Amino acid sequence: MAKNNRGKTLRTMPYHARGECPHCHRTGVKLMYEIKAGDKTIKVCKVCKSTPAEKLGA
Ligand SMILES: [Zn+2]
Repeated sequence: MAKNNRGKTLRTMPYHARGECPHCHRTGVKLMYEIKAGDKTIKVCKVCKSTPAEKLGA
C-alpha cells in the first residue's frame, strides 16, 4: 500500500493537511482521515479516525 499521507502529497494540500481536528480540537494535527458522518464526509486526525461517526456529532 502506498504511503498516501506522507511526503509530497502533504505539500499539495491546503495548510499541508494540518489544522484543527473537529473532534478532539487539537490544533496542528494532520487531518488525513476522512470519515463519513451522515451524508457528509469530515476529516479527522489519526487519533479520531477510529471513532464512530455518531460520536462525532456531525
Ligand atoms: Zn482528532
